[in-house]
Amino acid sequence: MSVRHNRVRRWAFLGAAVAAVSLAGSASALDVPALKAAVDKDLDGEYGHLDGLYKDIHNHPELGFQEARTAAVLAKEMRALGFEVTEGVGKTGIVAVYKNGAGPTVLVRTELDALPVQEKTGLAYASTAKQSYRGHETFVDHACGHDIHMAAWVGTAHALVAMKSRWHGTLMFIGQPAEEMVSGAKGMIDDGLFTRFPKPDYGFALHVGPGPYGFVSYKAGVFSSTSDELDVTFHGRGGHGSMPNLTVDPVMEAARFIVDLQGVVSREKDPSQFGVISIGSIQAGNAGNVIPDTAELRGTIRSYDPAVRERMIDGIKRTANGVAMISGAPAPDVAIVEGGKAVVNDDALTERTAKVFKAAFGDHAVAEPKPGAASEDYSEFIIAGVPSTYFGIGGLDPKMLAEAKAAGKPVPANHSPFFAPVPEPSIRTGVEAMTLAVIDVMQK
Ligand SMILES: [Zn+2]
Ligand SMILES: [Zn+2]
Repeated sequence: MSVRHNRVRRWAFLGAAVAAVSLAGSASALDVPALKAAVDKDLDGEYGHLDGLYKDIHNHPELGFQEARTAAVLAKEMRALGFEVTEGVGKTGIVAVYKNGAGPTVLVRTELDALPVQEKTGLAYASTAKQSYRGHETFVDHACGHDIHMAAWVGTAHALVAMKSRWHGTLMFIGQPAEEMVSGAKGMIDDGLFTRFPKPDYGFALHVGPGPYGFVSYKAGVFSSTSDELDVTFHGRGGHGSMPNLTVDPVMEAARFIVDLQGVVSREKDPSQFGVISIGSIQAGNAGNVIPDTAELRGTIRSYDPAVRERMIDGIKRTANGVAMISGAPAPDVAIVEGGKAVVNDDALTERTAKVFKAAFGDHAVAEPKPGAASEDYSEFIIAGVPSTYFGIGGLDPKMLAEAKAAGKPVPANHSPFFAPVPEPSIRTGVEAMTLAVIDVMQK
């Protein structure tokens, strides 16, 4: 993505923000505490079912574009609520539409996919599932909490149907595949999400994180980072570990590269600007006494600003070529795969939604001071022209968090094999926040 391209996108967002301003003024009519009480009443009757659904999904996680069972489970839930459901949108995605008279069309997204991680939470409903990932069988775990999102998504649909006399318009609930592969959103759009189905006037999505449960966080403008995938293969000449002089050691190249790469972050990038490069996978050889032919590395690059991104990518390429040159090795293969673009929330919609969150959650509704380092392909829906608010909910026990903070211990966050959001308060807060945000823009 070039700087120029980004400027065009910014103008597009500004246009969307201006269009939504007229709507921002009418938010005050809503009696938020009374509505929240109605949502809670619905949840009291429904939570037992949502708990069973959550644990079933948690226990049967599926990787991106393999979410056949998950999609079928959600499709059945939504049909039972009276939604018209289309399956197989963008491979394993689902679109559930509920028409309730004339009015705005509102998109509510959940992700469907899990991660190639071996769960270590020790929970009674922990996953032991395995699936194929890049040609290898691997453990699968909802380590990002997308199972919380799915339960909250169904709970929100239930509450909205139960309260349908209070709003009008069309609900478009989508189950998006392969968020972790940063390709599912694009897949759904390319498969006609906004041409075969109504184009939404507004969009919402939420993500659970390692904050205290019962809390909701929001931020206008940039919410999450741009991510790129990095694949590097160093080529050497294999041989006996006792005779390195007869080889060109690609493990040595990889080791130098991993260390020197952090110099790109600390010495080349503007230190006041956000930028991260992490190597998460190294594959080289099998035996301890054999120098292999190649070393393959995979990593991720995160940034908010396109100029920072370009600078880091340039540094990565120079560093990879440099370490190969030091070893007298052939040039490495360096591939940068553009991933999720920054999620940029609509200013007017987010301001409006924040008012509802404040009225519903008081000081448990918190404005995020800065964007998060994580990345998300929800941005594709925004770029396609759906003004959106993507917000956060906490998932962990506040008491446990306070104790961990006092002891100076880090807490497991998303993608950790120990990440374990507490289901009931997380799902309840997700349903409350999402239902209120949707009713606010669809109110009669
Ligand atoms: Zn994730
Ligand atoms: Zn996630």
